[in-house]
Amino acid sequence: MLKKILIANRGEIALRIMRAAREMNIPTVAVYSEADLAALHVLRADEAILIGPPPATESYLRIDKLIDAAKQTGCDAVHPGYGFLAENADFAQAVVDAGLIFIGPSAEAIRSLGNKLGAREMMLEAKVPIVPGGEVKSGDLEDFIELARAIGYPVLVKAASGGGGKGMRIVPAEDQLLESVEAARREAQSAFSDPTVYLEKYLERPRHIEFQVIADDFGNTVHLYERECSIQRRHQKIIEETPSTALTPELRQQMGQAAVAAAKAAHYTSAGTVEFLFFEGHYYFLEVNTRIQVEHPVTEMTTGIDLVKEQIRIASGEKLSFTQDDIHPRGHATECRIYAEDPAIGFLPSAGKIHYLNEPSAANLRIDSGIYSGCDVPIYYDPILSKVIAYGRDREESTERMILALKDYSILGIKSNVRFLIDCLSHPEYRSGNLFTGFIDQHLPEWSEPEIGENLPLALAGAVLAMSARQTTGAEVTAGAPSSLWETLGKWEL
Ligand code: ADP
Repeated sequence: MLKKILIANRGEIALRIMRAAREMNIPTVAVYSEADLAALHVLRADEAILIGPPPATESYLRIDKLIDAAKQTGCDAVHPGYGFLAENADFAQAVVDAGLIFIGPSAEAIRSLGNKLGAREMMLEAKVPIVPGGEVKSGDLEDFIELARAIGYPVLVKAASGGGGKGMRIVPAEDQLLESVEAARREAQSAFSDPTVYLEKYLERPRHIEFQVIADDFGNTVHLYERECSIQRRHQKIIEETPSTALTPELRQQMGQAAVAAAKAAHYTSAGTVEFLFFEGHYYFLEVNTRIQVEHPVTEMTTGIDLVKEQIRIASGEKLSFTQDDIHPRGHATECRIYAEDPAIGFLPSAGKIHYLNEPSAANLRIDSGIYSGCDVPIYYDPILSKVIAYGRDREESTERMILALKDYSILGIKSNVRFLIDCLSHPEYRSGNLFTGFIDQHLPEWSEPEIGENLPLALAGAVLAMSARQTTGAEVTAGAPSSLWETLGKWEL
């Protein structure tokens, strides 16, 4: 078993990994930048080490500093989390070259799947259906025109090394093709240092359905069923659930087998996700995410398998302790990502101090959080604050539980997407399971925060009470304190 793990990440995922390791009696070391001196993952850490100034390029993205930190603190393994260096093959290789264990797939698997064109080739060979499209080897703009005609408009220009929705352009008709190819090349060069772009058929109302896979070093590969992630803004997921309302048992089985075939083709080990677009009853391979995903908890809720612990066991050289036949998901789980952003102005990130925080708690509700009352949300990093995961016997119960939880989720001081999430989940089309990746653009295009109106006096009274509660106890309302303001108050009247 591993002796000590360096967590090369921050925020809720750092805390999530810490928890899994702690349950396995493995100590962890947190890393932090100067912007995170009082971040929750640092306050909760067994041990923490400063790795540099606030910009990620000078701290969380510095391979040399992370490896030094691991060596200096006597770690024998590194968990990358998601984002930052999680899908960077050079990082995985550098960890191994330093004599440490990388908790994730091999550098080769990350490299070969990281290139979307290479991954498409691999899937073709493994007989996994891919989105119609391809590469223009010559790079000639004339050849792009020919390929786009063969695919049929609309087409999507995509960056071969792309990620995070960057370097992607929808082209509705031929007169915009060349301009889009050139713009996507420039964007890809600056974001990924690789200007290679290719074309895909643009599917107009697809669902995003992905399969969790997990594999050990002994050739055992299984899938842990699907997650539907069609509720997205700017091609980035915000609500995920399992099971998907779109799949029949036959399709679920076929796609699960395709996901396992995809993982085997890449000699994949550890936890990973095979993403598909689903359209008119057909599925098409999109990409493999070679890391733990933000949305992994919904799978944990329905399968009972702790994915981070499994990653740690696999990295320790253990065999998977279950086979495909042992996995029987039950019930329904929904996850909402809580972001520091303003949905009313194009989901613009919102940084600053959280003056008051109340996180909900209920049976069958999980909160993976990286914040507390009084903490700062730095501008430097991805604005994810926390995740709420609601389990129910069925979709109805899971959705209802989630809506109630979000209504109890108060974050004062910065903008958040909580109210927007409630409106998504309450939309009749969401409730009937009619999802597609353009759901938000179609159903909530001009969304704005509801007026407080007649509730203003109540809201103000609540704020005053919150402040006086803090003054009378003389203590900050911090994590670990009673979760509700009302619990901290004595007798009160409006
Ligand atoms: P990234 O790696 O940048 O996240 P992906 O290839 O995973 O990019 O795609 C992200 C999202 O973009 C998908 O979930 C989907 O909403 C949209 N998308 C990607 N490819 C297509 C396509 N061919 N047709 C329609 N939508 C697409």
